[in-house]
Amino acid sequence: MRALKIMSRPAAVACVLALVAACTPAGTASVRRPGTTASPSPSTSTSVRPKATRHGPPGEQPRRGEVRPVERTGDLPPVISSIPTRRKVVFLTIDDGWEQDPGFVRQVRDRHIPITAFAMRDAVEAKGTPDPAGGPGKYVGAGKWGYFRQLRNAGVAIENHTLTHPNLRLLSQDAQRREICDSSQVIRKQVGARPTLFRPPFGNYDTSTLRAAKSCGIDAVLLWTATVQPGGKIAYQVPDKRLRPGDILLLHFRPNLARDFRILVDKIRRRGYELGNLQAYLAAMTVDR
Ligand SMILES: [Zn+2]
Repeated sequence: MRALKIMSRPAAVACVLALVAACTPAGTASVRRPGTTASPSPSTSTSVRPKATRHGPPGEQPRRGEVRPVERTGDLPPVISSIPTRRKVVFLTIDDGWEQDPGFVRQVRDRHIPITAFAMRDAVEAKGTPDPAGGPGKYVGAGKWGYFRQLRNAGVAIENHTLTHPNLRLLSQDAQRREICDSSQVIRKQVGARPTLFRPPFGNYDTSTLRAAKSCGIDAVLLWTATVQPGGKIAYQVPDKRLRPGDILLLHFRPNLARDFRILVDKIRRRGYELGNLQAYLAAMTVDR
C-alpha cells in the first residue's frame, strides 16, 4: 500500500470516471487482512479456514486487470475516496460504534457480507454522548470491544477512527499522532490485529494527519463517496444521485442498523451492484516498483 499515490478527494473521485481497467493481476498485494489473502478461488479450496471465512473471504474479489494500479508519488499514505473500477461493485464501511446491535452481527455473518468497520474508542466504550442520529438506542455500549471481536469473527475488518473523534485539522501533529497511534494500540490489544486503514472524523485531515498516520503504521486513509441515512436511504455526493462503480458507502452504528442494513443491501443488489471486498480491491491498486 505504500506504493499508492496520494490523492485529493476530487482526484480520487475523478479516478472512477477517468480510469480504465488495466494491467495488474488482482491481489498483488501488500494489504494484510484476515480473509483476503487466501485462495483466489475460494470455492475450490479445501484448506482449513478461520470460522469467519469458511465460505471464503466475504465479498467480490477483483478480477485480473479490473483495477487500475495507482502510481506512487511519495511516501505518505494515499487518500482514497473510491475504487477505480468499471465493474458494478460498491464497498460498505461503518463508523464509530455506539449502537451494538447483536442482530447486525448475525446478519453480517449469516449473509456473509463484506464490511469494514472504523472503530472509535469512545463510541465503542460508550464514553460521552452517543450519536443522536437515528433516535435513542437500545444497545449503546452493550458489548463494547467484545462486540467488535464478534464482528471480527464474522469477517469484518476493524480499522482506526481515532480515540475521541476530534477535528484533526485543529490538532498538532503530535496530538494527531496520539489519536491515531493510541487507537491502533487499543484495537490491536482488544481485537487482535493492528489497523492498516484510517478514517479521519468528518473526513477532515491535513498533511500532518498523513504523516502521523504513516508513523502509526497506516497504509491508506479512507474517505467515502456516499453516506447511508436511517431507513437505508443513500445520500449521494454526486448530482445525478446514482451509485457508481467503486463507490465507498459510509454507514454508522445507529439504532435500527440491522433493519436499515437489510434494506440497503437489497437496494444495492436490485440495482445490479455487488458488494466488494475492500481490502482485496485496495491490494489490487498497489504498484510495486
Ligand atoms: Zn465518525
